[in-house]
Amino acid sequence: MKPIIGITPDFNPGDREDMGGKEPFYFLRARYAKAIEDAGGIPFILPLMPDRAAWKRIVSQVDGLLITGSGSDLAPETYGEKQQYKFKRMSMQRATLELGVSKIAYQADVPMLGICGGMQSINVALGGTLFQDIDAQIKTPIAHLPTYSATKTAHSIQIEPRSLLRRIAGKAKIQVNSSHHQSIKKVSKSLVTTAVSPDGVIEAIEAPDKNFLLGVQWHPEFLYEKHPIQKKLFQALIRAARSFSCRK
Ligand code: MN
Repeated sequence: MKPIIGITPDFNPGDREDMGGKEPFYFLRARYAKAIEDAGGIPFILPLMPDRAAWKRIVSQVDGLLITGSGSDLAPETYGEKQQYKFKRMSMQRATLELGVSKIAYQADVPMLGICGGMQSINVALGGTLFQDIDAQIKTPIAHLPTYSATKTAHSIQIEPRSLLRRIAGKAKIQVNSSHHQSIKKVSKSLVTTAVSPDGVIEAIEAPDKNFLLGVQWHPEFLYEKHPIQKKLFQALIRAARSFSCRK
């Protein structure tokens, strides 16, 4: 049976010109759903509900979760900081759902993959913090937000031995794309860093005592069609979700 993977959508509450204008609008890059579909899962786009009881029901119904990336960033107040640089804030509807669902899924040990901003949300949900602006806060020669397409790789990452990511990738060094201007500053106490780029920017996190919790700073959904290792990330989530659903 194909496992059901809950996917967090983005939301325009009515202040974005690009997605629906003044009309409140759910939206999601189709690549996220397609990657889940192509890896053998059923992508199930989640409702942006604000209450904890709904989150618990959602988490109990899915076999796995994909916390997606976004063009906007978490409000720094969610990790105890004031906004220091110019960037677009994620809608509260989306942030509330992502943080709530990630925390409950962590506690319930539901298999979870976080991509880019989704990995950052998982870290913040579990008590970690973020760099609000890589260029302003970290000295690096690497462009983590290059002008070229995310279908092209941008930099290498070094993967920790004995990590989940290392088992999936099968090697210590891989090339990834990069489309982010924020990154993890303090890693949650519940998580560990399992990959970094050559400048030390955190590119992957995991929960070693959980069944399958992986966050990646890059965007495998732009690469998986041509890069088998990137497809393996989605396949590993689907495998973990299938065995989780059998244990339920
Ligand atoms: Mn990067």
